[in-house]
Amino acid sequence: MFDFTKVRLLLLFVVFIFFLSFNNVSKAMDSIGTRQFTIYFSGDSKGIAQQILEVTQRSYPIFIELFDAKQDLRLDIFWADRRDWSQIPQCRNKDYGMPHMTKGENHKHYIILPAANIDEPVQLIRIIKPLLDIKKLSKDETCQLTNLLSTVEGTSISNLDQYLSSKEFYIHFLIEIVLLHEIMHDFCFEFGIPENYGKNGQKAWWLFEGLAQWSVLWVHRRLGNDHWVGLHELLYRWMYRTGQTYRGNISPINYSNYAWFHGILIEMFCQLENEFGNDYGPAILKILLKKMNSNDFLSNQEIIATFSCVANQDLSTWFKSNWKIE
Ligand SMILES: [Zn+2]
Repeated sequence: MFDFTKVRLLLLFVVFIFFLSFNNVSKAMDSIGTRQFTIYFSGDSKGIAQQILEVTQRSYPIFIELFDAKQDLRLDIFWADRRDWSQIPQCRNKDYGMPHMTKGENHKHYIILPAANIDEPVQLIRIIKPLLDIKKLSKDETCQLTNLLSTVEGTSISNLDQYLSSKEFYIHFLIEIVLLHEIMHDFCFEFGIPENYGKNGQKAWWLFEGLAQWSVLWVHRRLGNDHWVGLHELLYRWMYRTGQTYRGNISPINYSNYAWFHGILIEMFCQLENEFGNDYGPAILKILLKKMNSNDFLSNQEIIATFSCVANQDLSTWFKSNWKIE
């Protein structure tokens, strides 16, 4: 006979150990923060931690408004170098450098970013660098990209290819793009749009990642950061184009086509915005959140029906023929 009390005690113990180890890691790192956000960092990263805090504080009200959120969300963000990474329980099986969000106790979520100023974010570079193929850029795009990155850097960039491998590029990319993407995941989780949501085993991962990709555009537009809007769009559309050899089904997704997959989603959302206007994203989100209150899972068909309803036209053929989603 199964002893449920023992199983429960064991589970409790595991949760407790997990809590303790996370706590130990965060105690070993320095931190700055406010009531809502804590940024953990090590070594000489205080300046970066301050930048992260600023981006978080500026973007947070935009997320709250987007979700019409009545309660605050507590965000713990780790700027973790290789040593910190190996101490964080849920990172232990993940290669160093893959930014991600992970869940803790009491609705607490942790965003883990690799400390690019200390260690190269190896896994992230492995994923995106092959798709940043300079030969795939037109002359105009090269010019546009160089200008946008020079605005970010505050000085003119003479060698684009070299800059795209630099520490500076990855720090900006992580703080201004990936961080917002992960905050959107946090909000989606908290308000009922989980990663594996789908009916009959169908996974709508594309929606979860697509919303996160789109939110980066939305937040930067609201903050008036036109250069980051342009950069996010240009970088991912470029990755999408370079990765055309992966063309086919958008699943399964693995490390080799991960950046391309995110490129697809930015391409998809940009095409939708071009056709139906910049308020298309918030309108979709509003209906999805309402539907999720009454229905734990939505199938691809139901999600496409929502996209069609907001567009006021049937988009099922568009999704099927362009993105192999049906
Ligand atoms: Zn994501």
